[in-house]
Amino acid sequence: MDLFGGTVLSCLFCGIVAGEVPSETVLESEQVVAFRDVSPAAPSHVLVVPREHIANAHELGREHAQVLAEMLVAAQEGARLEGIDTSGYRLVMNIGDDALNSVPHLHLHVIGGRRMGWPPG
Ligand code: AMP
Repeated sequence: MDLFGGTVLSCLFCGIVAGEVPSETVLESEQVVAFRDVSPAAPSHVLVVPREHIANAHELGREHAQVLAEMLVAAQEGARLEGIDTSGYRLVMNIGDDALNSVPHLHLHVIGGRRMGWPPG
């Protein structure tokens, strides 16, 4: 893996975190970045990612407790900024093929602005 200072050079979301790939930023903090999904699944669809490269939620351990908490706080703030905090929203982390995970850098989907169905398809 072409790892360089916590960044994977071939990783799309590492590129977004580094500002090398364009994105529509919603918020940033020391540990995480939130930006709009390029192909939104709902009127509001934000992705929260750690600056550090972590492949997916199945790779998380207790040592990641702080960054995971920062991701959840950023999701709350993103929902507030998007105006979906009171109407409700869904937080999703896809892992692996059956879940249709397509980008191998941990990300939390923050999806809202419409009534959703359950179970997910
Ligand atoms: P997942 O399928 O859970 O891995 O989610 C990956 C998400 O990344 C999808 O919802 C894509 O629409 C989104 N995505 C892919 N490329 C970009 C990009 N360049 N900027 C923003 N979102 C992206």
